[in-house]
Amino acid sequence: MATIITHPLVPIAAAYLIGRDKIPPRLLITASIASIIPDLDVIAFRFGIPYGDPFGHRGFSHSLAFAALVGLIGLCFKNYFKGSIGIIFIMLFIGSASHGILDALTDGGQGVAFFWPFTNERYFFPVRPVEVSQIGLRNFLTPRGMTVLWSEFILIWIPAFLVLAAITITRKKKT
Ligand SMILES: [Zn+2]
Repeated sequence: MATIITHPLVPIAAAYLIGRDKIPPRLLITASIASIIPDLDVIAFRFGIPYGDPFGHRGFSHSLAFAALVGLIGLCFKNYFKGSIGIIFIMLFIGSASHGILDALTDGGQGVAFFWPFTNERYFFPVRPVEVSQIGLRNFLTPRGMTVLWSEFILIWIPAFLVLAAITITRKKKT
């Protein structure tokens, strides 16, 4: 995993790109939660399910199919979200799918089963600059946790901020 602080950054940035007025706050909050829930799969370790199993860590819950499922489930709550069907699906899909993408950029653990249920092959990106985060909130406050946060800050937060700032400036010029 990247840290649970960094995963929600992606749906938040996506909401900004799509246009904040089109994204109801409760949809953004749910999409942020959707960016974290794939890691609930760590419970598999408790049940003795190995890391590389389809139902192990970074298995089915990190797949694109799971993200699509999250999006589809979201559509059942259309009246709750008060958004258009397309926006609800896209935001929840981005939230959940981006989790695996960030994980595939980390330098530790096993790869991500993006294409489950078609294959359980685990994938990483060719470049994996982000320090892998240890599982569990406690680990944030250790020197290793600080190294992880620093790596995410430099490699994810700052570039994301620069892209959003550039878009803001471009939008302002157009108006
Ligand atoms: Zn993960």
